Amino acid sequence: MAARVLDGRVVATALRSEVAEEVRAAQSRAGWTPRLAAVLVGDDPASRVYVGRKIAACAEAGIRSVEVGLEASAATQRVRGAVRDLSADPDVDGILVQLPLPAGIDRMAVLMEIDPAKDVDGLHPLNVGRLAMRLDAPIPCTPQGIVELLDRSGLPIAGRRAVVIGRSEIVGRPLATLLMHRDATVTVCHSKTAGLAAVAREADLLVAAIGRPAFVGSAHIREGAVVIDVGTNRVEDAGLVARLFGRDSPRVAQVRERGYTLVGDVHPREGAERAGHLTPVPGGVGPLTIACLLRNTLRAARRRREGGR
Ligand code: NAP
Repeated sequence: MAARVLDGRVVATALRSEVAEEVRAAQSRAGWTPRLAAVLVGDDPASRVYVGRKIAACAEAGIRSVEVGLEASAATQRVRGAVRDLSADPDVDGILVQLPLPAGIDRMAVLMEIDPAKDVDGLHPLNVGRLAMRLDAPIPCTPQGIVELLDRSGLPIAGRRAVVIGRSEIVGRPLATLLMHRDATVTVCHSKTAGLAAVAREADLLVAAIGRPAFVGSAHIREGAVVIDVGTNRVEDAGLVARLFGRDSPRVAQVRERGYTLVGDVHPREGAERAGHLTPVPGGVGPLTIACLLRNTLRAARRRREGGR
């Protein structure tokens, strides 16, 4: 039986309108409007698109924003200085540093300059530690979006066997922490995991956050599992796209017209055949990440400006 599609766009739309309503309420109640600063270093086309989407989403929710652009050749010191200025600016509530940073820039040194109170991606070590200790902390946007999607789709987490493939600081690790906090039994896999497919097949809830197109296939998926595909891979090879989606798929035409199509980490046909529920790419986890960024910005603003939650 074909997997049920977990439509991230629908949940993201609901979340975004909730944020917009709260932004309007804060304006009329207390006269403040949240403001996000997005730092983009270099001119990577994908990063540019992501930042553009985030800025547009802010505008739609009534959140003010500013984009701070720096050349790819900027030194770590310059990027740190820009982030430090934003941390000191009383009219900035949230700071987002678009990752990955160009080679040669010390990512951790830059992230350490973010005022933890403005850390809307939850990447500052203080907030990583707070989250691990179950203290109040900004929750990284992608893992937060995944949990929101499961909750709003009525899919239970407590007691489930969850396998997270990928241990990055921005997705795999914080997601494993959140799922553990929600009483799932969690296994984290990575590039050195032995017998990956057999481990993945144990999962009631399987999350793929790897960055390899269509890597997760039938061999990894237990029949009926909930499968969350975080991968967002640009694939330019029309032959590969035809093999994955079928020769007549509109995806093949998309590659010819646009030069690429987005493919998840889960094989689209095999995933649809074996999973019980599956997130599409695009239109699954991506829209939720942006919606949760808006929510984190609103929460940071409320805390800073009203001292509330
Ligand atoms: P990342 O930092 O590159 O981490 C990739 C993880 O996958 C690493 O832990 C790596 O293991 C593991 N891995 C790589 N090859 C593997 C293999 N053959 N078998 C098992 N594990 C393997 O990536 P990321 O930032 O977490 O992103 C992952 C994907 O999600 C990318 O496609 C990215 O574009 C996408 N993403 C999407 C969103 C969204 O909003 N939709 C947000 C963030 C990321 P090691 O640790 O051993 O190297």
